[in-house]
Parts: sequence; C-alpha cells; structure tokens
Amino acid sequence: MKIEALTVFPGMFDDVMSTSILGRARERGIFEFEAHDLRDWTHDRHRTVDDAPYGGGQGMLMKVEPIAEALDDIIPRTPSCHVVFFTPCGARFDQHVAERLASQERILFVCGRYEGMDERAYAYADECLSIGDYVLTGGELAAMVVTDAIVRLLPGALGDEQSSKDESFATGERGGLLEYAQYTRPATFRGQDVPEVLLSGDHARIAQWRRHDALERTCRWRPDLIDAADLTAEECLEAAVLIERYHGSHTPEE
Ligand code: SAM
Repeated sequence: MKIEALTVFPGMFDDVMSTSILGRARERGIFEFEAHDLRDWTHDRHRTVDDAPYGGGQGMLMKVEPIAEALDDIIPRTPSCHVVFFTPCGARFDQHVAERLASQERILFVCGRYEGMDERAYAYADECLSIGDYVLTGGELAAMVVTDAIVRLLPGALGDEQSSKDESFATGERGGLLEYAQYTRPATFRGQDVPEVLLSGDHARIAQWRRHDALERTCRWRPDLIDAADLTAEECLEAAVLIERYHGSHTPEE
C-alpha cells in the first residue's frame, strides 16, 4: 500500500512515519509514505496557498488552484488513487472506515489549514473524513491518526497477527466491544491483585472472563457500542442488566 499526503507542512510527518510500528512497517515494505508540499504547485514568489474568503469573515482559506494543480499532477501518477480530504464536516472516522481504507492500494490524504479550503477543491474528493467532533489546526494530525489506524491492520505490520483482531472496536465475529482489562507482573501492586483467574492457566476460564470483562467495560463506558456489537442472546440480556445498573434503563434493539 502507498499512503501520500498533500500538505503545507510535509516535515510534520517525518518522525511519526519513521517511529515504532509505522517505521518498521515502512522498512519492511508493508507500506510506503510520501508527503507532497502543496507550495510546489504555486507560481508566485511567496508560494501563496491562501487568500481571504469571498463575503468577508475571519481568517484565510486555502486557494483552489494549487490544490487542483497538485491533484491533477499526483493522482494520475499510478492507478487507483483514493483521495481523502480531511475536514470537521466529513464523515466520522472509525474502525470500520480504517478496515475499508486498509484494502486500498493507494490513498492520498489532502490536509487543510487556516479556516479550511475553497469548496471547489472538494470536487476531487472520493470521501471526506473527520477524526472527531472538535476542530484541529490542520489536517496533518488527522492524516497521521488515520495512517496509524490503517497500517496496524496491514498483514505483517504487528508482530502478532491476532493482536489487531482482538482489540477494542475490532469488527467481525464477536467484535464491537472494548478490550478486556489486562495485567502484567507484579501479581500484586499497592494492594491491588491481578484477578485470580488470569493466574490459573485455565485458558477456557480466562477466555470466558475476558469476554465478560469486555462486555462489562463496554456497558459501563461505551453503552452506545452495544447495539452494533456481535453478542449472543445471553450476552444481550446481560448487557441490558449491566446498562441498567450503570446508566438506568436500556432496551436492546431488535
Ligand atoms: N473552519 C473549519 C470548520 O469550522 O469546519 C475548520 C478548519 S480547521 C481550523 C483547518 C483544517 O484542519 C481543516 O481544513 C481540516 O483539514 C483539519 N481539521 C480540523 N479539524 C478536523 C477534524 N476534526 N478532523 C479532520 N480534520 C480536521
């Protein structure tokens, strides 16, 4: 897979794309990353990428011409380029979107700055994404967040193939819950003991405890996830009881 970003701050990506799992995945050729400097497609002495908005108002907007010229140049370089614009007005990014994007061959992230961009630039977007209901200074951090979430799903990126399938929000069979609590040594820390079952060596009991703990944590902290989670009939009833206990009444959807 190749991931690219169009940005006015290409240097922001250097450390993130060279560190830890992302850095190792790049070294192993699991994904390639390239940041393009939007100013390379300007033609004036000041390499201007912004201008005042028509109709007045605060701040500056990204001009459409450098973005259009950059995309006309970058998109056709190799086939099947999926173009994603970052904007708080986009669809909310989540694990389902990460899984869908992980199957693309090539993704180009377009990072906004200032007060955003001239609306006509969005004509190039295959999709627009937001990473949450808050406003960032620029799309670069969003591009890094989304790249990180995608790359850990690529085969070989994590040491243990199972680890991304077992995590919070994992989709598919029995998925959709938060991850269960985990512990490492020591078995007792400042009076807090690791649950006895985890020391038992009984893998069936451990799996059962983990599933129950995942259900309980999700009901407690993210009850909004329960309706879409893949639960057994028995777990649905248990979830209703847990949600009632933590938050008051809940009626599971059919
Ligand atoms: N004026 C815009 C609005 O109110 O929707 C906000 C512009 S923001 C200051 C500048 C850029 O940061 C955006 O064009 C976008 O690329 C990026 N950005 C800000 N918040 C974001 C979010 N929640 N998700 C993804 N990108 C975001």
